[in-house]
Amino acid sequence: MDVVATIERARELCRALPGPVGFIPTMGALHEGHLELVRHARAECAAVGASVFVNPLQFGAGEDLDRYPRDTEGDRAKLASSGVDVLFVPAASDMYDPQFSTAIDIGEIGRTFEGAIRPAHFCGVATVVVKLLNIVGPDVLYLGQKDAQQTAVIRKVVRDLDISVRVRIIPTVREADGLALSSRNRFLSPKERAAAPTLHGALTAFREAMQSGLSKSEAYEVGRRVLARDAALDYLDVVDADSFAPIDELRKEAFVIAAARFGSTRLLDNQWIAA
Ligand code: AMP
Repeated sequence: MDVVATIERARELCRALPGPVGFIPTMGALHEGHLELVRHARAECAAVGASVFVNPLQFGAGEDLDRYPRDTEGDRAKLASSGVDVLFVPAASDMYDPQFSTAIDIGEIGRTFEGAIRPAHFCGVATVVVKLLNIVGPDVLYLGQKDAQQTAVIRKVVRDLDISVRVRIIPTVREADGLALSSRNRFLSPKERAAAPTLHGALTAFREAMQSGLSKSEAYEVGRRVLARDAALDYLDVVDADSFAPIDELRKEAFVIAAARFGSTRLLDNQWIAA
């Protein structure tokens, strides 16, 4: 695996890879969820690129940029043994020089749910993903369904800006008790870790209640009662998979989505409604 830090060298090496090239952007502190994306890319593409970059643009003031977990050596070892060909690890100062000022406004989809709670978040995500796509030039971009709104935002950016890349969404990898793997899970105290799977449980209860014919507000109450009592629910809702606009009935191509705080750690989860 080649590890490159500069934009020029990353561009040079990635463009020389045999196609199709799969690409997995990450913020590091890698776990089996990330590696599942790599495995899909390895199976489906001739070459695989990945990046580890904790993107300051997508963190608001007072968010966890400084305490975001970092594991440079562990990440390299995991990606090398998963068959990544080129790993791009840029410095923030190279990605954003002092004159940098362009930002991608994705509109309403970036202002709801996670975007309402973290106002600059999706603008930062969209901007860095477009930069990374321009540098790496992959044929297929691999994203995790775990961050459902992020997948909707990026699919929209790719569509709206005619970016020539196919977007593959990979199902969420979970612990045996249902908790979605996340780099932030390591911040949970033992008590919070024990309570955290109730987020998945609340989503399941909410979805099943709606599927059994209860209204959305009734189903919300059912889901909320399943969530651990000392967790703080930010939202529990059902949205159109493309627009992320709330909908009142379960239908094809929708997500049930939830976010809750366990102590100081915010966790997200969702379930895909296929029918
Ligand atoms: P992050 O490092 O959190 O920016 O995540 C990098 C990519 O890995 C994103 O596309 C995430 O959606 C994806 N990802 C994170 N957690 C999981 C998981 N538990 N299962 C599948 N994909 C995941």
